[in-house]
Amino acid sequence: MTLAGLDSLGDLAGRRVLVRSDLNVPLDGTTITDDGRIRASLPTWQRLLDAGARVVVCAHLGRPKGAPEEKYSLAPVAERVRQLLPGVEVAFATDTVGESAKAAVEALQDGGLVLLENLRFNPGETSKDDAERGAFADELAALVGSEGAYVSDGFGAVHRKHASVVDVAERLPHAAGGLVASEVEVLTRLTDDVARPYAVVLGGSKVSDKLGVIDSLLGKADRILVGGGMVFTFLAAQGHEVGKSLLEQDQLDTVRGYLERADDEGVDIVLPVDVVAATAFAADAEHDVVTSDHIPADRIGLDIGPASAHLFAAKLEDAATVFWNGPMGVFEMEPFSHGTRAVAQALVESEGFTVVGGGDSAAAVRQLGFAEEAFGHISTGGGASLEYLEGKTLPGLTALED
Ligand code: ADP
Ligand code: MG
Repeated sequence: MTLAGLDSLGDLAGRRVLVRSDLNVPLDGTTITDDGRIRASLPTWQRLLDAGARVVVCAHLGRPKGAPEEKYSLAPVAERVRQLLPGVEVAFATDTVGESAKAAVEALQDGGLVLLENLRFNPGETSKDDAERGAFADELAALVGSEGAYVSDGFGAVHRKHASVVDVAERLPHAAGGLVASEVEVLTRLTDDVARPYAVVLGGSKVSDKLGVIDSLLGKADRILVGGGMVFTFLAAQGHEVGKSLLEQDQLDTVRGYLERADDEGVDIVLPVDVVAATAFAADAEHDVVTSDHIPADRIGLDIGPASAHLFAAKLEDAATVFWNGPMGVFEMEPFSHGTRAVAQALVESEGFTVVGGGDSAAAVRQLGFAEEAFGHISTGGGASLEYLEGKTLPGLTALED
């Protein structure tokens, strides 16, 4: 896939550039608990600012239903952007395409930046109706005018058929930002010409979302290590009791099918041999390590156990390529963070090309104190990277192809 880069837009001095970024950060009230996505967005903005452009940033936060909701305001993000870009005039518009946005864009100087309020406060952003999305895209495009340009840099949203991702690209000269370009380059290394052995570690809680990727990885990966919430559907598929652990009953047959196919195709599916089983979903709940075929009926599995952590590390040791998506346990609670820590540590020690994908996985890595530089790549887009690996077309990337 070849995407037009920023250079293709020509001289940007004095021109307004609409940038779609991914600023969907976790918030505790108005406090940003992980600003990774904001920091990842900075280099593209900086390049445009250095070129003398007037930068208009748009993004979404959370899942508001097409109308303003205070708790989903991007105002705290604007504040953080100001701290991260000292010396740059950073304005915040209290609407997306309304009076505040128009005034802020009008007032923009060369080398200045305005962040628009949450795109999803507008029903047109996510509408399934092409005309409604198109009308909203018209308003977004009008903000930067006929001399303007569009830069797609919100990798975490690039798999969505949304106005700011797809429709606006049809209305303005467009290019991929540095973040999207580098994500695509990395994902290509996970799909074409993969260095082997290729190991994939899957975990997290969005089980049915992630089963599809296993289907396509069965033909590509040499080893698939499964932990996190999804593992209990695998253990149950093998006939084991999983107690009160996360379980997707309706996926049992699918998972049995995967296990058989893995056998046929010689793919090593590695499941935990032990589990940390707790009396409740709570940091202070009583918990013990049990073997994964003997989870007591009244317990919840909240992490892979120490023997599994050891086994997983061993399976990653000689891998030339590792893709990791999804924490191994409820890492947000210290007693259940050890499996995730062990996998992160194994990636850090690996001499292979290591990629961490997924919002929570990336947050886990940072929260557990690992340096981002210790990994080959930390993807900002969980869903987007998974869909890419599944071989789906990403509408936002298709829109950038000429
Ligand atoms: P990512 O954002 O990296 O793709 P997910 O969103 O799928 O990952 O899942 C992350 C969440 O999975 C975390 O909040 C973590 O607490 C949860 N999780 C991990 N293991 C378990 C488990 N055994 N039971 C319940 N939740 C789990
Ligand atoms: Mg997540």
